[in-house]
Amino acid sequence: MKFKLTRKQKKMMHRIIAAAVLLAAVAAITHLFELPWWAELLIYMVPYVIAGYDVLKTAFINLIHGQVFDEKFLMMVATLGAFGASEYPEASAVMLFYQVGELFQSIAVGSSRRSISQLMDIRPDTATVIRDGVESTVSPEEVNVGELIIVRPGEKIPIDGIVEEGVSSVNTSALTGESVPVDVAYSDNVISGTVNLTGVIKVKTTTTFGQSTVSKILELVENSSEKKAKVENFITKFARYYTPCVVIGALILAVVPSLIQGPGSWEVWKNWLIRACVFLVVSCPCALVVSVPLSFFGGIGGAAKEGILIKGANYTETLACIDTLVFDKTGTLTKGIFAVEDIHPNLISEAELLDIAAACESFSSHPVAQSIVRAHEGHIDSANIGDVTEIAGKGVKAVIDGTLYYCGNSGLMELCGADYHDCHLTGTIIHVARETAAGSEYLGHIIINDEIKEDAARAISLLKMIGVKRTVMLTGDKEKVAKNVADKLGLTDYHAELLPADKVIQVEQLLSQGYKVAFTGDGINDAPVLMRADIGIAMGAMGSDAAIESADVVLMDDKPTGIVKAILTARKTMRIVKENVAFALAVKAVILVLGALGIANMWLAVFGDVGVLILAILNAIRAMKPVSID
Ligand code: ADP
Ligand code: MG
Repeated sequence: MKFKLTRKQKKMMHRIIAAAVLLAAVAAITHLFELPWWAELLIYMVPYVIAGYDVLKTAFINLIHGQVFDEKFLMMVATLGAFGASEYPEASAVMLFYQVGELFQSIAVGSSRRSISQLMDIRPDTATVIRDGVESTVSPEEVNVGELIIVRPGEKIPIDGIVEEGVSSVNTSALTGESVPVDVAYSDNVISGTVNLTGVIKVKTTTTFGQSTVSKILELVENSSEKKAKVENFITKFARYYTPCVVIGALILAVVPSLIQGPGSWEVWKNWLIRACVFLVVSCPCALVVSVPLSFFGGIGGAAKEGILIKGANYTETLACIDTLVFDKTGTLTKGIFAVEDIHPNLISEAELLDIAAACESFSSHPVAQSIVRAHEGHIDSANIGDVTEIAGKGVKAVIDGTLYYCGNSGLMELCGADYHDCHLTGTIIHVARETAAGSEYLGHIIINDEIKEDAARAISLLKMIGVKRTVMLTGDKEKVAKNVADKLGLTDYHAELLPADKVIQVEQLLSQGYKVAFTGDGINDAPVLMRADIGIAMGAMGSDAAIESADVVLMDDKPTGIVKAILTARKTMRIVKENVAFALAVKAVILVLGALGIANMWLAVFGDVGVLILAILNAIRAMKPVSID
């Protein structure tokens, strides 16, 4: 984290240094010379006022408005009380340290707020648009959809689009954490926020800047602080009661014992007054109030750097205690890039079957569809295709040249009533049928196969290692294919031949058994499950809006190990939060007790306030360091 001080913070630092030097000088003078009490009081007042005049001013204004539990007001009362009890150096020092704490807090909170977006460093400042053959540099917001922009090596791609001209490689690490560059050429998609490395490319924009990936990510991350964790809400509530209680304690301590012990003796009053001041100095709950959100912020920021976007502190909290991970198969555990293994036509030729299948699939974004279109290679005349309907978990139907075709799994064949038959080969079977006057006619099937992601097995074994009890795969694919994948990966459980609605039921069953369930999918037809699980994790979100919107945690790349990193980050954040809460409460409780007994002096009280605050902030900043799974 980079600390860049604002002007206000710099001024504050100078004041603190000046006051500290003066305080040291005053301490030396009073040590060397025997001064009357009023002279000593007077010279200790100088560093006190220099360090804290703004505190005194605000406290005074707050007093007029009746805000007596404001920390500045309490600080004023405590320090003036200390002066009253002849604790001059202490009074001055408390004010000075209080300001050190304030400065520290303002730097930490300020830079963490900025840092998530800065940390990611993906916001493009300008776009070079070509209008009527002339290049002009404009702000990305001014570029319209379908305009041509030019991106030179070293520049950030400002808006999502398609390469029209040029070849280059693109560094996606700011979005995904993945350092291997991706090659792009004509007709490839490029994502805003990535960096163009080697060649000059011309990109035709497909969205506005506001709708681009980069804007969505920044918006998501910047809004993450609005969703509060339960501990945060608890701390806020706690602070509301804690401060008044301690203040009342201080009041009682200042008055009651003295009245009993010796109302006539100034020494007695002074003794209890100091104890009351100790109470007031410890009364500020800022170590908690500041460090808890800061820890969450740090965790979310650190994860964002790795391409893991967590949408709020509440999700961090839930993610930390996930014990069951449910996966979608296609595109999540497997690559989602199917290779055509074989084509078994019926009544027509192999080429005709592939033609029909590709035409039906040409409007679908499902991995199966895209693989079939890719295998077809030839031209598809979309003018002849109409009435395309996608049936989630089953396939598509479409009208081509006036005939209705069905293209999908056995479920779809049963739906249309075609006389289909299964295949002896292992793989995902895509059947094709057409509607005729005499009913549905079976045209054969295409056998396609997907590969397991290299990273998936590692992710599953890491999940086991970190104590996630069950890993379950849900898929719309056939039992045979599902079993194969589940066995190879060593999953606890799997369920096949499910429609999207069945997946919701499966997740609900796990939830009702009391498991803390995270569901991971690619955002294609699994939005309902993503939303139903305790945590929805969308993967491979580079360029997929649906995934970014419906999930609680978004993995920009498509590596399942990102889930492990997300869980470990969340756990680390929670550990830091707990450490801070426990530490702050324990120190404050001890000092309150010691203060009441007259053992703790003002110096210890300052540690209990400012020292704890600073230590808690430093601890919170640790959350920002990404966890490593290597
Ligand atoms: P998964 O649960 O593995 O992500 P889906 O629920 O997305 O799978 O799809 C389940 C099955 O439905 C696929 O294996 C495929 O047989 C069939 N299917 C889904 N969409 C299509 C499509 N566009 N074309 C052909 N078949 C499809
Ligand atoms: Mg799917």
